[in-house]
Amino acid sequence: MQEIINKNRFSIDELIKLLKSGGDNKSLLFNKSAGIKEKYVGNIVYLRGLIEFSNICSKNCNYCGIRKENNKIERYNLSDNDIVKTAQFAYENNYGSIVLQSGELQSINFTKRITNLLKQIKLLTNNKLGITLSLGEQKKEVYEEWFNAGAHRYLLRIETSSEDLYKKIHPDDGMHLYKNRLNCLKYLQEIGYQTGTGVMIGLPFQTYEDLANDLIFMKDFDIDMVGMGSYIEHADTPFYKYKERLLSLQDRFELSLKMIAVLRIMMNDINIAASTALQAIDPTGREKAIKIGANVIMPNITPGKFRDNYKLYNYKPCTIDNASDSKHFIEEKISLTKNTIAFGEWGDPKHYFKRISKI
Ligand code: SAH
Ligand code: SF4
Repeated sequence: MQEIINKNRFSIDELIKLLKSGGDNKSLLFNKSAGIKEKYVGNIVYLRGLIEFSNICSKNCNYCGIRKENNKIERYNLSDNDIVKTAQFAYENNYGSIVLQSGELQSINFTKRITNLLKQIKLLTNNKLGITLSLGEQKKEVYEEWFNAGAHRYLLRIETSSEDLYKKIHPDDGMHLYKNRLNCLKYLQEIGYQTGTGVMIGLPFQTYEDLANDLIFMKDFDIDMVGMGSYIEHADTPFYKYKERLLSLQDRFELSLKMIAVLRIMMNDINIAASTALQAIDPTGREKAIKIGANVIMPNITPGKFRDNYKLYNYKPCTIDNASDSKHFIEEKISLTKNTIAFGEWGDPKHYFKRISKI
C-alpha cells in the first residue's frame, strides 16, 4: 500500500485498492493526503456562503428531492431584494465569496434576472465579494453574459463520469444528455470561469471502477474545483426504490472521504469542498473532510424560513440546524482541525492560474 500511496498517478486497479482500503492502510492514505494538503494549499479553509435562492426546477433527475415532478414540496423563490440582502450579509461578515444555487431554469427572464443580480451584488460590495454560480446547464452565450456581469466561478457536477450510469440516474426525456453536460463544462473553461465539477458517491448501480474513473475524469479535465459527496436517498424520488441495495450511510461517508483524499494526492493545488451531504450523515463530517484534504466549506446562509424546502435528500441539515452554520460555530469547529479560516478572501484555486497560463 505504501508503494501505491507514494505515487501521484494511479492505474484504475490502484485507485480501486485505495478506495477499498481500511484500517492501517486507510490511515496511511489519510496521512498522506493531509500532508499534501498542508504542503500545497496550506491548512487554510475558505468560506463560500451558500444561497439556495429557489427550489423551482425544470428537470427530473431521478435522485433529487426538488425534481419537477415532486409535488409534495412547497416551491419558493427568494425575492431579488432578499438575495441581495443575503449577499450583503456575507460581505459584511467577511465570508469573502458566495455561491448562488437553484433548480435549473433556462429562459430569457431567468438569464436576465441573474445578470441583474450579479451586477447589483458587485456594485453593493465594491467588487469585493467573489461570486460562484451553480445554476445547471445553460447556453454558452448565457454563461458568457453571467461571466461578464461578474461571476467568476461555476459549479456543474458531472454527477458520474460513466455515460451508462448517467443515463440510468436521469430520465430518458431528452433533457439529460451526458454530452450536453460535458459541453457545458468545456464552455465554462473556455470562457474563463474557475470551473468546478463533482460526483455523487454511493449511487445505486455505481461500481468502484466508476468511482476510479471519476477521479481520472477530473484530473484529465483539468478541473479547478471539486465538490463531491455521498448520494443520500430521498423518499419522494424514483430512486428511493433502490434504497435496499445501497452501501450503509456510514460506508458511503467513508468512501467519500477516501475519494477526497485520493483526489488531493492526484490534484495537489485544486480547491476541494467538504460537502453538505457529508455533514448530513455525520455532524462532524465537514471537519473530517477538512482534516484529510478538503479546503473549502459552504455554510448555508439562505434565510432560515426557506431552508426546509431545499431538500435535495433526506437528513439534509435544515432550519432547526441553523446554528451549525453560524460563523462562530464554524470558526470553533474548524479551529479544532488545526486549520485557519481565511476570512474575507476569495480563495481562488491555485490550479486555475496554472491552467490558464498554459493556454
Ligand atoms: N440544479 C443545479 C444545482 C442544484 S443541485 C444542478 O443540478 O447542477 C446541486 C447538486 O445536488 C447536484 O449536482 C447533485 O450532485 C446534488 N444532489 C441532488 N440530489 C442529491 C442526493 N439525493 N444526494 C446527494 N446529492 C444530491
Ligand atoms: Fe433540478 Fe439540479 Fe435537482 Fe436535477 S439535481 S432535479 S437539475 S435541482
